[in-house]
Amino acid sequence: MKKQGKFIEMSREEFFKWLMDLKVSRKITHIQEHHTYRPNYGDCKKHSNLELVENISKYHKKLGWSCIGQHITTFPDGKIVIGERSFDDDPAGIKGHNAGGICIENLGFFDKGQDVMTEEHKKTIIFVTAALHFKFNLPVNTNTCVYHAWFANKTCPGTNFFGGNTKSDAQKYFYPLVEKQIAEFKGAKTISKPASAPATKKESKKGVKVICSSLWTYNSANWDDKAVIVHKGEVFTIISDKIKVGGGYMYRLKSGLYITANPKYVEVINL
Ligand SMILES: [Zn+2]
Repeated sequence: MKKQGKFIEMSREEFFKWLMDLKVSRKITHIQEHHTYRPNYGDCKKHSNLELVENISKYHKKLGWSCIGQHITTFPDGKIVIGERSFDDDPAGIKGHNAGGICIENLGFFDKGQDVMTEEHKKTIIFVTAALHFKFNLPVNTNTCVYHAWFANKTCPGTNFFGGNTKSDAQKYFYPLVEKQIAEFKGAKTISKPASAPATKKESKKGVKVICSSLWTYNSANWDDKAVIVHKGEVFTIISDKIKVGGGYMYRLKSGLYITANPKYVEVINL
C-alpha cells in the first residue's frame, strides 16, 4: 500500500479488504465503467500511478469540481488507487446519471487500435467491479453495471473495452467474467474446515438466518478474525450451541466459520 496526499494505491487483495470494511451510508445502485482517454498507457511510462491520479484531480478541480470525479482508478500494472472522492458522495462520472453510482476510471484509451489492455489490468477491472457488486449486493445487468457510452455521445470505456462498448457486448463478454469472480468471492465462505467436533456427534438441524443487511463471519471464535461478509436472507447451518466470545456469543457454522449469535443480527431457524 502506498500513500500520496489524499490518494492510496493498493493491490487487488488490499482493495478487497479495504472495501469490505468500508462503511457506506449512501444507497448504491450501480457501478460505472469509464476509460480515462487521457492520460493513457503512454503516460504510465513517464509518471507513477499516484502522480497520474494527482494530475487528474488537479484537472477536475480546474473544471470547477469539488474534487476528483471518480471513486476508483485502475492501472495497467493491476494497481488500484482510491481517495479524495468519498464513497458517500455521488461521483462526477456520467452527466445526469450519477445518483447512487460508484465511478471506476480505467486508465487508458480502449478504442479499437489504441491501448491494448494488459492481462493484469483486465484482472483488476473484473476484480474491482465484482468486489463492488459483492459488497453492495447488486446483480450484474445493464442497470447495475453501466458503460458511459450508453448515456452520452462518447465511446467511453472504449470501443474495444472487453470486446466492445455496447450493452450486448457487456452482456456477452464482460458480465460473465464479473459473475465468475463474484462466485469465487462467495465460494470463499463455503470453504470447509475440519470440524473439531467428534464425527459421531449428531449435527444440529438448526440454522441461522441473517436478518440485518450484511454481517461479518469469523475464521475462529475471535471477533478480530474476520472472514467474509454475508447478506440479509442467507441461511447457514449451525453445529454448536452458543459459544461465549468476549462480551458476546457466536455460533460455529458447518462451513467451519463462526457467526454472531446476537438475535439483533441473526434468527435461529429449524432446517
Ligand atoms: Zn467516461
